[in-house]
Amino acid sequence: MLDDNSIEPTTEPDKNSVASESEPKSSAARDAEPHKGSVMLEVKNISKSFGKLRVLKNIDLTVNEGEVVAIIGPSGSGKTTLLRCLNFLERADEGVLTIDGLSADLKKTTAKQRLALRRKTAMVFQNYALFLNKTARENVTEGLIVSKKMKKAEARTLAEEYLKKVGLTDKYDAKPFELSGGQQQRVGIARALALNPKVILFDEPTSALDPEKVNEILDVICVVASGATAIIVTHEMQFAYDVATRVIFMDEGEIVEDGTPKEVFDNPKTERTAQFLSRFNINRNIEYII
Ligand code: ADP
Ligand code: MG
Repeated sequence: MLDDNSIEPTTEPDKNSVASESEPKSSAARDAEPHKGSVMLEVKNISKSFGKLRVLKNIDLTVNEGEVVAIIGPSGSGKTTLLRCLNFLERADEGVLTIDGLSADLKKTTAKQRLALRRKTAMVFQNYALFLNKTARENVTEGLIVSKKMKKAEARTLAEEYLKKVGLTDKYDAKPFELSGGQQQRVGIARALALNPKVILFDEPTSALDPEKVNEILDVICVVASGATAIIVTHEMQFAYDVATRVIFMDEGEIVEDGTPKEVFDNPKTERTAQFLSRFNINRNIEYII
């Protein structure tokens, strides 16, 4: 059995999430210099088809340590598939993936290589993907015990530490049906963080939440992403503009544009990017404070 990320149970999102006041914030991430950290993740020439549909078309992507990369783009452009290929929830047809110095030719990986590489990432899913019959604490300990072979008591302590980090101290014993959507996603985030991944992958982490409840999760991600290496697929353009250090626009299985938030949002190089972004209003004056 692979680690817990190989299991992807789903649950219907609870729409009664508890919103937190979200205060104006500022990291001025968008004004930061492009990151010059060492390469943490590199994928070269990755392609993936489902039958005749080419979903990823020879994509190259390099992410440096400490970068927070937002991937934006229309529905169906291959964003989720890219993340799933990076985490081996999908098997790419070709490409070379390197994470934290460990490389594999995706055409011919061994189970051992896949396991080693997938332990370097952790995924936060759109629909939380919690075990419905397990408590918040158990949802976090499962991967630690099964994948990391951690002792139960140690896993329990670590789970509580991470649940505390995402503001769920009073919910250790709650099962998903007893939690709001926002709280369930906090468990999903705690589970991913507890695995201590080199790169954390978020696939539209707020899109199953009611619009007015989105900020409580964006606030958590903002804190979590600070200092981490993260790839975040999102439709929250203000968040991408304010929090990401880099923005990638994907369309039809290709990376069309890649730059700082300012470059991509304020000065898109291609008509496709400009057209996509024209549907969103970005407030250039609000700043996020982490
Ligand atoms: P995005 O996340 O950008 O909305 P996806 O990566 O989910 O895009 O999907 C890209 C394309 O691949 C879509 O046309 C989608 O229907 C198709 N697709 C995704 N997963 C599968 C699958 N398991 N089987 C067949 N087609 C799929
Ligand atoms: Mg998607």
